[in-house]
Amino acid sequence: MRKWLLMSTSFLAIAATLITISLVGSLFKADLTTKAVSYTIVPTKIEAADEVYRFTPGFGFNAFGVIADGTKVSYSLAADGPWEVVNPEAAEEGGIVVAYGDELWLKTDGTSAQVTLIDSKPQAKGGLQAAGSLITRAQWGADESYRLTSNGQVKWPTAIVSPKMIVVHHTVTANNDPNPAATVRAIYYYHAIVLGWGDIGYNYLVDQQGRIYEGRYGGDGVIGGHALKFNPVSIGIGVLGTYTTEVAPWPQAEATAQLIQEKALRWGIDRQGTVWAVNGTYPTIVAHGDVGATACPGNGLRHHMWTFRNYNPVAREYWQINSEGEAELVQKLTDGRYITVERKTAKETALWLWYDVLGY
Ligand SMILES: [Zn+2]
Repeated sequence: MRKWLLMSTSFLAIAATLITISLVGSLFKADLTTKAVSYTIVPTKIEAADEVYRFTPGFGFNAFGVIADGTKVSYSLAADGPWEVVNPEAAEEGGIVVAYGDELWLKTDGTSAQVTLIDSKPQAKGGLQAAGSLITRAQWGADESYRLTSNGQVKWPTAIVSPKMIVVHHTVTANNDPNPAATVRAIYYYHAIVLGWGDIGYNYLVDQQGRIYEGRYGGDGVIGGHALKFNPVSIGIGVLGTYTTEVAPWPQAEATAQLIQEKALRWGIDRQGTVWAVNGTYPTIVAHGDVGATACPGNGLRHHMWTFRNYNPVAREYWQINSEGEAELVQKLTDGRYITVERKTAKETALWLWYDVLGY
């Protein structure tokens, strides 16, 4: 997956540069008060000194993506830091870094880097729906022109299949995201334009408040681009955040579980079952790392795989790990409060975690 992505991204570097220039032009023509959403990427100025690069785009950005040939990239939003390492997993997801600033400082141990600064903050009209409901592309402000070539042709034609499995991802973006819709637009921009896919790869995305965003254009059953080789047989869900260690919050996990239950019902997928796909037998509800060489979606999201396979909206119960590292069976009351109905000891927790991480 990573090799393939790096190849495709370096191939597209020149195209992205050209697009950057055309967008600089459109930035000044665009009327942000009437446009649903506007993206700008303008790495206008690069000053190299002691392998530190400074980008001053002339606008406030909320995300950036970097394609570098080195092994480590660090960034800061100010000259004096603090410095953060860009998670290498982000590249595996075709990902962006959520960072709000006016200038970006970058260190890399490589010899070149393509940096895309994105301002996807302008809001779509109408606002967002409540948790649990689907936010359509129009509602989150997808600019449908990103799917087209300069000749008006669809870059990535849609194909509909009957999916047999559902692949769970984390997007390797920010936890406690201040503006998840802007992040969805930034991912869309990055996948569609910078990586040249012609659309966002995930079929659905879920934010930390439990809102679900329509992903890849084309409706139910459309083939996305999220898990190499498995795309034609699966639905890809991008859970917004980085869950390498941090556990995904319950509203997000519950919305993901509801979405999985709904799509499983729609396509006749047995959530607790297995299916033959590509080169072997897999659980129908599967973590990205179980069908490809990636750490995605992290142990903090794998934590919820049992819930994704067994979620029952009537019982509305789930297991969570408390601050003592114990597993708690939690139930949601009709008034919206959660209560702990069962607790497992640390020893049992380890067994349970093993069960959950391995899945089945
Ligand atoms: Zn993934």
